[in-house]
Amino acid sequence: MDFSESARVKELRERAWAFLDECVRPAEPEYWKEFSAETLPHRIPAVMEDLKAEARKRGLWNLFMPDPALGAGLTNAEYAPIAEISGWSPIAPEAMNCSAPDTGNMEVLARFGTPDQRETWLKPLLAGEIRSCIGMTEPDVASSDPTNIACRIERDGADYVINGRKWWTSGAAHPKAKVVLLMGLTDPDAERHSRHSIVLVPFDAPGVNIVRQLPVFGFDDPGSHCEVRFDNVRVPQTNRIGEEGSAFLIAQMRLGPGRLHHCMRMIGLAERALSLMCERAKSRTAFGKRLADQGVVREQIARSRVEIEQARLLCLKAAWMLDTVGNRDARFEISAIKVVAPNVACVVIDRAIQVHGGAGVSNDVPLTQMYAYARTTRFMDGPDEVHLATIGREELRREEGRV
Ligand SMILES: Cc1cc2nc3c(=O)[nH]c(=O)nc-3n(C[C@H](O)[C@H](O)[C@H](O)COP(=O)(O)OP(=O)(O)OC[C@H]3O[C@@H](n4cnc5c(N)ncnc54)[C@H](O)[C@@H]3O)c2cc1C
Repeated sequence: MDFSESARVKELRERAWAFLDECVRPAEPEYWKEFSAETLPHRIPAVMEDLKAEARKRGLWNLFMPDPALGAGLTNAEYAPIAEISGWSPIAPEAMNCSAPDTGNMEVLARFGTPDQRETWLKPLLAGEIRSCIGMTEPDVASSDPTNIACRIERDGADYVINGRKWWTSGAAHPKAKVVLLMGLTDPDAERHSRHSIVLVPFDAPGVNIVRQLPVFGFDDPGSHCEVRFDNVRVPQTNRIGEEGSAFLIAQMRLGPGRLHHCMRMIGLAERALSLMCERAKSRTAFGKRLADQGVVREQIARSRVEIEQARLLCLKAAWMLDTVGNRDARFEISAIKVVAPNVACVVIDRAIQVHGGAGVSNDVPLTQMYAYARTTRFMDGPDEVHLATIGREELRREEGRV
């Protein structure tokens, strides 16, 4: 493995830092002041469009997209350090058109979409004109096992009719959310992994109803995470992505890079927490010494540095595996980093909260919001336990091979 940066990646990384420092971070106060979750759709501050225009101008647009005809054409290992920088700010990924769940959806459309689907949905997504959602999780079934997914997609003439309830549909309250990639049951009698399909459902289709928004630890995320009802929603069968019964195959392909992108951003988030921790430790004195000079605080700082470095290396290895051997053979490493990165971020943010004292749990510093994001990433795209089960199974298999 060679993780040294090419001249292009180094240059992009420097550009990403400059964008973050000169544009994104200065815009954050205005963004949060103007953002409002009180209406549906949400009020997304105008500064976001300014940031998007600036990111495009600076060549920091669609960097996640591995297809050079559609985006930057970076490998996952090359994209990792740039995604990490975007993890320093909750608004940077959208500004760079690199935010979840759109990135995964764009990759699905690029790979499996028909020419019509690409024209209608991928093109405006790549241009940042619209946003999209992924609708897998359902309130009524344990969705970490996607074979449970019960939302019905039934043929009716040339159409599909959809009935079901989804929740945690991220971004559905965003004013630009125009379409959801919905996973549902097309053939209950087929083999377990061939029962489900993915169809494109426009949000303005009759019968799509946003029931409520779900805050996270009390925080309203821009675009929220919504419960959405689908009552007799009719879409043409041409809205299906890939073959009927291929939802698992597509989801698997989508989740490999998607999970890694979350982890890359988690490492940036942990770096930000460590930086806040150090700043605070240097500026506060207790019992006659700066906090930074107390051994116990130094240990917290040192542990955080070591754990972030470990996570970054594992993330790079997983990215390198994804680039070189593909999704299937990189599944162990992807599951491993999907467990490690959010947990490291949670621990580092928690330490930063502690070093801040009472301020740490106030809204004067962003640590509580950062913690909420890191904590939920332990569920998003599969809970820790499911990934640990994969790792355990692989390890036992490897062990058997050795005997
Ligand atoms: C902020 C946020 C955003 C999200 N965005 C989206 C989105 O955009 N689209 C979408 O479809 N979903 C989204 N999700 C949903 C997320 O992917 C699911 O919550 C997750 O997959 C788990 O499904 P579940 O909630 O049904 O938990 P369940 O399946 O009910 O699992 C509950 C718990 O059971 C345990 N468990 C499960 N399986 C095992 C096992 N094999 N061994 C041991 N223990 C196990 C784990 O502790 C797990 O956390 C989001 C979630 C959050 C919190």
